[in-house]
Amino acid sequence: MSSPSLLAYLRNNLEELKQKGLYNEIQVLQGGNGPIIRIQDRELINLSSNNYLGLAGDERLIHAAEKALHKYGVGAGAVRTINGTMDLHEELETKLAKFKQTEAAIAYQSGFNCNMAAISAVMEAGDAILSDELNHASIIDGCRLTKAKVIRYKHSDMANLELQARTARESGQYNKIMVITDGVFSMDGDIAKLPEIVEIAERYDLITYVDDAHGSGVLGKGAGTVKHFGLSDKIDFQIGTLSKAIGVVGGYVAGRRELIDWLKVRSRPFLFSTATPPAIVAACIAALDILTDSAELQEKLWSNAAYFRNGLTQLGFQTGHTETPIIPCIIGDEVLTQQFSRELFEAGVYAKAIVFPTVPKGVGRIRNMPTAAHTTEMLDQALVIYERVKKQIGVGVSAGV
Ligand SMILES: *Cc1c(COP(=O)(O)O)cnc(C)c1O
Repeated sequence: MSSPSLLAYLRNNLEELKQKGLYNEIQVLQGGNGPIIRIQDRELINLSSNNYLGLAGDERLIHAAEKALHKYGVGAGAVRTINGTMDLHEELETKLAKFKQTEAAIAYQSGFNCNMAAISAVMEAGDAILSDELNHASIIDGCRLTKAKVIRYKHSDMANLELQARTARESGQYNKIMVITDGVFSMDGDIAKLPEIVEIAERYDLITYVDDAHGSGVLGKGAGTVKHFGLSDKIDFQIGTLSKAIGVVGGYVAGRRELIDWLKVRSRPFLFSTATPPAIVAACIAALDILTDSAELQEKLWSNAAYFRNGLTQLGFQTGHTETPIIPCIIGDEVLTQQFSRELFEAGVYAKAIVFPTVPKGVGRIRNMPTAAHTTEMLDQALVIYERVKKQIGVGVSAGV
């Protein structure tokens, strides 16, 4: 027996989503998430993963995980602060700090978890958080866990951030004030204006917090957006994920020793959720070793991204103002964008449509993320399919302008 009020709530809302065409049917992969994926017994060129460097299926990571699995077993057995901290966790944190050029680092079970943990460990009633309006959902939720006042500023609008920072500081109402931004914004592929943000932060004594989930492993020779701008000693919280370019799962904060010491005694997911399994940690360590040793994968990623973007542009598509391997192909109309994505699927390309409300009305796009694991042949084939679908769907596809 279910509660009648619950059932009514679920049925009404599910029905409404379906009617609006916003109900997401989940696609199931029959195998790993590589440059080619298998769905419904068909092979597709995959342009929708965050597996930027192709490490999710890398033999070296698999081997490291296997070795750890046999030595340590499957689970960590406890939270980090009881006895779930293994030497592997310590090794990962030491390597993360080195990778990020900070004094120390703390690892969490996911990037999402990390934002739940880190923001609320330092921000409290009487504080304020200045947050870019396009920040990731986990930042928004992380801010909600605090009793601080959350003030949104216009996306990457530095005049607006300056105004909000000055107003907040001059009001005398707040003790600590933090500015939070994604390093790379995942819908358009644009990079946060960190040099200006740091300048504003210095002027108004703001704590700086950069969530570089899409920049780590991609920008700054792999070390991320902060390193890309040469600001490693100017950002208080450098957040990263081990789930995207690193190819595994997990999140981390890199920063000063005192910050990390504090997070180890105060951040709730660290204290109350079981530590990351050792095999996962070993795979992350192997990935970091690969990134430290060679820039080969990053170079491949960037050359593939340039190649694919150039190909789309030559076909007459708009790719927006991306500065990273996230390549939007702007279609415009929402229905047309969804149709475009479905036709790509039918023709052998997996690339998701992103439409309102995730992005503003009228700039629906197909988001492409070529990886280091794609071959030129795969990208060429994807471009041929793009061209065919464009012809098939016909007029209106030059939209977005
Ligand atoms: C993907 C993402 C996360 C979540 O990371 P997971 O490790 O997948 O939980 C957090 N923040 C940003 C900005 C992201 O893009």
